[in-house]
Amino acid sequence: MDGLQFMHRSLAPGRRLWAALVLVAVAAVVAVLVGRLATRAYLDEAAARGQTTLRLAVAALRGHMNRFEPLPALIADHDDIKELVADPGNAGLRARANDYLEEINALLQSSDIYVMVPDGETIAASNHQGPASFVGGNFSYRPYFQDAMTGEQGRFFALGTTSQKRGYYFSSPVRIGGAIRGVVVFKVDLDAIEASWMGGEHAIFVSDPEGIIFMSGRPEWLYSGLLPLTADRLARTQVSRRYSDAELRELPITGRTVSDGRELISVETGDKVREYLALAEPMPEAGWTVNILTDTASARAQAITAVAAALLLLGLAALAAAIVMQRRARLADRMELQRTARAELERRVEERTADLALVNRQLETEVAERRATERQLRQTQADLIQAGKLAALGQMSAALSHEFNQPLAAVKTYADNAAVLIDRERMAEARDNLARISGLADRMASLGRHLRNFARKPNEKLGAVPLADTIRDTLEIVAARLKAADACVNVDLGTLPLAVRAGSVRLQQVLVNIISNAADAVEGREGRTIDIVARRKSGKVTITVRDRGPGVPAAIAERIFDPFFTTKGIGKGLGLGLSISYNIVKDFGGSLSVGNHEEGGAVFTIELEAARLPATEAAE
Ligand code: ADP
Repeated sequence: MDGLQFMHRSLAPGRRLWAALVLVAVAAVVAVLVGRLATRAYLDEAAARGQTTLRLAVAALRGHMNRFEPLPALIADHDDIKELVADPGNAGLRARANDYLEEINALLQSSDIYVMVPDGETIAASNHQGPASFVGGNFSYRPYFQDAMTGEQGRFFALGTTSQKRGYYFSSPVRIGGAIRGVVVFKVDLDAIEASWMGGEHAIFVSDPEGIIFMSGRPEWLYSGLLPLTADRLARTQVSRRYSDAELRELPITGRTVSDGRELISVETGDKVREYLALAEPMPEAGWTVNILTDTASARAQAITAVAAALLLLGLAALAAAIVMQRRARLADRMELQRTARAELERRVEERTADLALVNRQLETEVAERRATERQLRQTQADLIQAGKLAALGQMSAALSHEFNQPLAAVKTYADNAAVLIDRERMAEARDNLARISGLADRMASLGRHLRNFARKPNEKLGAVPLADTIRDTLEIVAARLKAADACVNVDLGTLPLAVRAGSVRLQQVLVNIISNAADAVEGREGRTIDIVARRKSGKVTITVRDRGPGVPAAIAERIFDPFFTTKGIGKGLGLGLSISYNIVKDFGGSLSVGNHEEGGAVFTIELEAARLPATEAAE
C-alpha cells in the first residue's frame, strides 16, 4: 500500500502541471472566443444604438431644413422683392424690402434673409440695421448664388464671412419676365440642432464632401478634417470660402480599422486616445454627411466583463472538475485500500485455513493415536479381564471352601452325633441327624450352584420366602461360628409371620454372611449379643442385623461392598461375602446398606419387597 501511495504522490504533480497547462490553454481560447463574440455582440448593440441616434439626427436635420426650403422661392415671388430687383437703386423700395425681410425673418425665426442682384451685391437684408449688415456685401463666390443665377434652387452650408456664423443657405432666383434679375437667400441657423447634440453618449457631427466637420456636438472638433487635408481639398474649400477665414485642421485620428463591416477609429482627445465606432449617413439633398461616433469603451468593458464571467465560470467548472477528480482519486485510493485489505484478509484466511488444516491433520493423527491407544487399552482390558477371571477363579475356589467349611463342620458334628446315637440305639434321633445332614448336603449343592452362577444372573426363581424358616435355617448354619465367638443372637420378627420376595438359599447365604461378620465383630468384646429384627412397613420388609462390635468407620463404609475388600488378615477374610450379598439383594429388587448404631456396633439393613406367605416352602 505504501508503494501505491508513493506512486500516486509521485504522479500527482505531473498531472497537476498538465491540468494547469490545459486549463490555461482552455482559458486562453475561451477568453479569445468569448472576447471576440462578446465584443462583436456589444459592438453590434452599440452600433444599433448609434444607428437609431443617427437616424433621429438625420430626421431632425431634414425636418428642420425642409421647413425652410420652399421659402426663398416664395419670397422671390413677392412683389416688393420683384419691384426692388427691377429697380435696385430705388431707396424707397430698398427700405420697404428691408422692412419686409426683417419682419419675415423674425416671423420665420430664420437667421438672415437677403436679396442680391446679378452682380452679387446684396441690396436688401433682414439684418440691414445691425452692425454686421449684409447690405452692400458681395457674395457672388458662393455656390448658392451661382446656382440661383443659373435658375436653380441653391443650397449651401457655410460659415458666414460677414456674420462669422454658420448657417445653411437656401437660394432662389427672382425672375422678372423670364429673366433672372436677382437672388433671394435664406440663411438658416443650425445652432439649436447642434446644441441638441452636445454631451451624450454619441459624438454627432456633420461633414462636408471634403471630410471637414461643419457641425459637431463636440465644439473642439469643428473645422477638423476627417480626411487628410490635401491641397486639392483645401483649394476646393477656398473657392467657395465655405469656412471663411476659420482655421482648418485634421482630426487627430490615430487608427482606423474596418472589421465585420464596422469602421472603428481611434481619436486622440486631450492626452487620451479613444476608440469610436463610426457610422455615417449621407444626406445628398443637403450635400453633407451626418456622422456619429460611439465610444466603444463601454462595449469593450462589457466584453471584458463577459470574458471575466466566462473565465470565472471556467474556473468554477475547473474547480468542480478538480473536486470531482480528487473525490474519484480518493475513492480509487479507498477502493485500492479495500482491495488490499481484502487481499490481506484472504491471505490471513488462507494462512488460518492452512493452520487449521495442519491442526486438523494433527488432530487426525491424535485421533488415530487415541484409537490405537484405545485398541491397546481394550486389549489390555481384555487381558486384565482374563487375568481377573483367573484371579477370581482362584479366589472363587477359596470362597467355595470358605462357604462349604461351615456346613461341612455341621455335617461332621451331625454325623459324629448320629454315630454316637446309633451306638446308643437312639435311632429316631440318629435318623433326625441324618436328615439334617441330607438337608445340609442339599444346601451345599445349592450353594455350589449359586457360586457357579456368581458372575451371571442365576436362574433361581424368585418367590415368597417365609422369613422365620429362613432365619431358623441360617442360624443352624452359623451356630458353630456363633458358638466359637461366644455370641448370642436375639431374633425379633414381630407378631405376624413375614414373607419376602426372594430366593431362599441366596437369602440364607446373605444372612449367613452378615451374621458371620457380626460374630467376627463381637468376638472377644464385652457385649456379644447380635440383634436380628424384621419389620414390615408399607409393602416392604426390613431386616436389621445389629452387633455390638467396633462398627464400620465412615472411611470404609462405601468400600465394604466392593469385591475382595477385607480388613481381616490373610487366610481369614476374602472380602467376597458382602459383595456377593449386595448383588444378591439387588437381584431380589431390594437393597443392602450399612450404618452404625448410636450405642456402638454396626447395623446392616436388608430391605426387600414384602410377599404374601405361601402354603408351602418357596421353590428353590
Ligand atoms: P470378609 O468377611 O471376608 O472380610 P466381607 O465382604 O464379608 O469379607 O466383609 C468385608 C469387610 O467388611 C470386613 O473385612 C470388615 O472389615 C467389614 N465388616 C463386615 N461386617 C462388619 C461388622 N459387622 N462390623 C464391622 N466391620 C464389618
